[in-house]
Amino acid sequence: MLDLMKLNIEIPKQVVDINKLSLYQIEKLPNGNISIGALVKNSDLAYHPTIVKEYPVLSQALLAGASPQLRNMASVGGNLMQRTRCPYFYNTDFACNKRVPGSGCAAIDGYNRNNAILGTSDKCIATHPSDMCVAMAALGAIIHIKSLNGPRTMPFGEFHLLPGQTPHLEHNLKQGELITHVEIPAIPYATRSYYLKVRDRASYEFALASAAVILDIQNGRIQHAHVALGGVGTKPWRTILAEKVLTGAIANEQNYRTAAEAALSQAKGYGDNTFKIELAKRTLVRALTTAGGMS
Ligand SMILES: Cc1cc2nc3c(=O)[nH]c(=O)nc-3n(C[C@H](O)[C@H](O)[C@H](O)COP(=O)(O)OP(=O)(O)OC[C@H]3O[C@@H](n4cnc5c(N)ncnc54)[C@H](O)[C@@H]3O)c2cc1C
Ligand code: SF4
Repeated sequence: MLDLMKLNIEIPKQVVDINKLSLYQIEKLPNGNISIGALVKNSDLAYHPTIVKEYPVLSQALLAGASPQLRNMASVGGNLMQRTRCPYFYNTDFACNKRVPGSGCAAIDGYNRNNAILGTSDKCIATHPSDMCVAMAALGAIIHIKSLNGPRTMPFGEFHLLPGQTPHLEHNLKQGELITHVEIPAIPYATRSYYLKVRDRASYEFALASAAVILDIQNGRIQHAHVALGGVGTKPWRTILAEKVLTGAIANEQNYRTAAEAALSQAKGYGDNTFKIELAKRTLVRALTTAGGMS
C-alpha cells in the first residue's frame, strides 16, 4: 500500500494501524484445521514447524515470494489484498481501467509479457501477483472476516473477483470489514505437496507461471488432487479441470500432461504473453512430477 501511496495511485483519507490487534497466532483447532491470524508475518508462517511439516506447499510458496526483508514485514491479510503488478497500473501516464474505471487498458495491445492468460476480459488482463494465495487456493482455505454485523466466512475461491467489466473491484470485502484469520483444512495427504515458481530471475521477482499441487497417491493411483496456478490468472487460479483429469488416474507423466492441457484449455494469449500457455503447462507437469515422486 505504501508503494501505491508514493505513486499517488492510492490516496487514502485515513490510514488505520491494525498492528496492535492480537491477530498473530498460528494454532491447530480441535477439528485439526489450522488457524492463521491475519497479522502473521509471511516469514513466521513459512518457517512454522506445522506448516513446514504438514503443508510444505504453503511454506514453499511463501518463501518463493518477494525477498527475506519483505517477507519479514508482509502480513497474511496484506498479501491476500495485494494489488496487481501490471506496469500500466503503476504508471499514471497510461490508460488503466483498474486505476481509472472506463479509461481503457494499455496492456491489451501494449507490452503484456507479464499479464494474464486465464480469467481475462476485454477490460483487464492483469495477473494476481501473490504466491501465498496460490497455495491457499489449492488448499481450499477459508477466510474469516469481521464485519460491522459480526463475523462471517468465505471460501478462498470466492474472495478474489474476476475483472469482467469492473476490474477496479478486486475482492469480496465490504466497506468496514477486516480479515481476522485464514483457516486451512486438515488434509493428511498435503505432506505430498509442492510449489514451483518460474520467473525471470531466481529471487525477488514475480511469477511468470507457478503451480501449487497436492497429491494423494495410493498404489500408484491418484485418489485426490488439488491444483492451482499462479502468474497466469487474473486471480489465484484453482483448476478443477486438471483435478478432474488427475482424480482416479495413474500417477504418471502422460496423465500430468493431459491434466496440464485441461488446465490451460481456456487460456488466451495477447501477444507478448502467449508463451505463458506452454510455460504454464510445463510448470504444472514439473510440479506434479516432483510431488508424485515424493515418498
Ligand atoms: C518489491 C516487492 C516484491 C514483492 N514480491 C512478491 C512476490 O514475489 N510474491 C508475493 O506473493 N508477494 C510479493 N510481494 C508482496 C508482499 O509480500 C506483501 O504481501 C505485500 O506487499 C503486502 O504488504 P503488507 O502485508 O505490508 O500489506 P499492506 O501494504 O499493509 O496492505 C495491503 C492492503 O491490504 C489491506 N489489508 C491489510 N491487512 C488487512 C486485513 N487484515 N483485513 C483487510 N484488509 C487488510 C490494506 O488496507 C491494504 O489495502 C512483493 C512486494 C513488494 C513491495
Ligand atoms: S491489464 Fe488491468 S491493470 Fe493492466 S493496464 Fe489493463 S486495466 Fe490496467
